[in-house]
Amino acid sequence: MNKMKAAIIGAGYSGMAAAWDLVKAGNEVTLYEADDHPGGLADGFKEPHWRWSVEKFYHHWFASDTHMLGLIDELGLSKQVLFPRPYTVLLHNDRWYPFDSILKAILFPGLGWGLNKIRFGLVGLYLRLSKNWQALEKVTVEEWMRKWAGENVYRLMWEPLVIGKFGKYYQQVNMAWMWARLHARTTRLGTFEGGFQHFADLFAEKLITEGVQIKLNTSVSSIKRESTNGKLVVESTAGSSPYDKVLVTTSPGLMARLAPDLPDSYLKGLLNLKSMGAVVLVLSLRRQLSRQGYYWFNIPKTAGYPFLALVEHTNYVSPENFGGDHIVYIGDYLEPDHAYFSLSAEELLERFAPSLKNFNPDFEMDWIKKTWVFKTDYAQPVPLVNHSQNIPPIQTPVEGLFFASMSQVYPWDRGTNFAVEIGRKAAKVMQAT
Ligand SMILES: Cc1cc2nc3c(=O)[nH]c(=O)nc-3n(C[C@H](O)[C@H](O)[C@H](O)COP(=O)(O)OP(=O)(O)OC[C@H]3O[C@@H](n4cnc5c(N)ncnc54)[C@H](O)[C@@H]3O)c2cc1C
Repeated sequence: MNKMKAAIIGAGYSGMAAAWDLVKAGNEVTLYEADDHPGGLADGFKEPHWRWSVEKFYHHWFASDTHMLGLIDELGLSKQVLFPRPYTVLLHNDRWYPFDSILKAILFPGLGWGLNKIRFGLVGLYLRLSKNWQALEKVTVEEWMRKWAGENVYRLMWEPLVIGKFGKYYQQVNMAWMWARLHARTTRLGTFEGGFQHFADLFAEKLITEGVQIKLNTSVSSIKRESTNGKLVVESTAGSSPYDKVLVTTSPGLMARLAPDLPDSYLKGLLNLKSMGAVVLVLSLRRQLSRQGYYWFNIPKTAGYPFLALVEHTNYVSPENFGGDHIVYIGDYLEPDHAYFSLSAEELLERFAPSLKNFNPDFEMDWIKKTWVFKTDYAQPVPLVNHSQNIPPIQTPVEGLFFASMSQVYPWDRGTNFAVEIGRKAAKVMQAT
């Protein structure tokens, strides 16, 4: 096989995983990253007195994340993976109830003790055991759940989840998405000692040792075919360079702008893909918020809170890693034109603060040491009915140009584990063509 000179756009987990396999196979690899550090959507930040970084958007791994855990093993970093036992709760009649396994869900009082509970349990069991997601992608969550779990169970348990994650698209999301969540997720949640950013930095160091050239602070503006020598030219803030093959790992919208040579049919496919953004306010507190030590609070939109989830990170990993600070995320999945995208951390806090007493009646504003806000307009792809037929292939119609993004991860829900999987798949496709 001929060795190639390859460029990868994006040092998130799909880009880094592809770079790892390509360089290990003897190819010359350059990784372009617009930010000043690797890690992409799973990156982190650190205060001077913190030993660990905090992820900008709450992140953890599932015990079933075999692609990520396998890669970490290959990198020789498995000893730094931790699986503490956190507690997830759900709001019902102003009280919080444990809700992170089928058993806990069956004990959840919101369902009563009759037929609802039996239907909820049987549907959960069926989805956990069934492998046939292809049949499920033909119907929406709403249609399927109403039929099999029943109107009450759908309204109580599943509708809040799809509304929370998909906003105005909630009635269009296909049932394979729900299957994937219930099929693969585990109660045990994993993280990396030092934080996800520490892992991304170690991964990047290993890539450099293998010979990958990583260009940080380098934003790519276009990828075009050179008519004279047939190479693909990557135009970036560092100038222009020719490559045999280029892999783009950004959002579909950005891919469409970077590669104007893509034919209309492929571009249309990219631009038709729907996604939600996310806005997350991070607080460092002087004191613990949830005295019960709960990690993840799920809040149905109907409860009237101005956010979807509150996550007390330091009820999962110790506050000692953050100089005694208690870290709390307050987040929501929103359409990119939502008003929250234009608000500062202070303005968001003003809206969110009155609800914080519901998590601890003693809460006072002077517990807050510092706030940060993180926003992304590409956080969660929306899988509509028959999504498998709308996914653009990794190999684009432009010779030598490849695309691997969260929107092509399917039927699984997006995540760093599947970023690794699709990055490695892209590396294979690039070498085979
Ligand atoms: C709120 C939220 C919570 C999440 N929770 C979890 C979780 O608990 N567990 C989990 O595993 N996953 C979680 N995820 C998903 C996970 O972060 C993503 O699936 C994964 O990081 C995607 O990796 P990627 O490489 O495909 O893309 P990205 O991480 O988006 O990487 C793309 C990279 O391209 C760079 N880039 C963009 N434009 C350019 C340009 N013009 N030139 C050069 N570089 C460019 C970007 O800076 C970025 O680094 C979460 C995501 C969000 C938003």
